[in-house]
Amino acid sequence: MNEILRLEKLRKTYARAFDDLEILKGADLTIHEGETVAIIGKSGSGKSTLLNLAALLDSKSGGRIFYDGIDTDTLSASEVEERRRTFMGFVFQNSMLLEDFSAIENVEFPLLIQGRSRKEAEKIAEKLLSSIGLENRRDHLPSELSGGERQRIAIARALSSGARLIFADEPTGSLDEQSRRETEELILSIPQDGRRAVLLVTHDLELARKADRLLELKGGCLEELDP
Ligand code: ADP
Ligand code: MG
Repeated sequence: MNEILRLEKLRKTYARAFDDLEILKGADLTIHEGETVAIIGKSGSGKSTLLNLAALLDSKSGGRIFYDGIDTDTLSASEVEERRRTFMGFVFQNSMLLEDFSAIENVEFPLLIQGRSRKEAEKIAEKLLSSIGLENRRDHLPSELSGGERQRIAIARALSSGARLIFADEPTGSLDEQSRRETEELILSIPQDGRRAVLLVTHDLELARKADRLLELKGGCLEELDP
């Protein structure tokens, strides 16, 4: 299995007026293609911080981050931008859909940013919508969808660009039981093509245990647990 993401001795300190807050103190993690990796940890332990650093959305205080074996410190700003568009997909607790755009337009969005034609983007988005059973919601606005449907559209959007690494932060955090199960199933199925990987952070132990690997973020470091 090829390595897709590696974190080495990742550190993050938030500077505050009177004392600095050391959240990550040397977290190590390697994720391979085809894997779902879940990170659990108490609220405030730094799960979102870790995810944001790994996705290069925030700057680290120390350590190294590798994508496909490439040290991300050696990438230029435009190369990082390019990676974000083509390599990564994001799913957050609140699906963060564009509220003025229909379901299919939301899924098309990353493709248009990549410079694909309207027609091409629509074709790919239609295929994705049917693969998640939401083709009959294509022209609905997000406000006309249930929480679970919104979250599945958000997942389709994360996948549409062809991303190989999906970051999910509490993706089932705000869903009811039924929607939670549907969303879980969809997320866990993402790496089944053997090419993708999912890094999931959650405080939902039940979901986390369904992942291929389970780690706990504790005291600023990651510890591998038995799922
Ligand atoms: P989790 O996702 O595990 O609940 P977070 O990563 O969101 O935890 O936050 C970890 C800690 O870092 C919390 O104590 C939080 O208050 C603090 N924190 C998060 N973001 C910032 C920031 N931008 N500035 C200062 N402190 C922050
Ligand atoms: Mg969080």
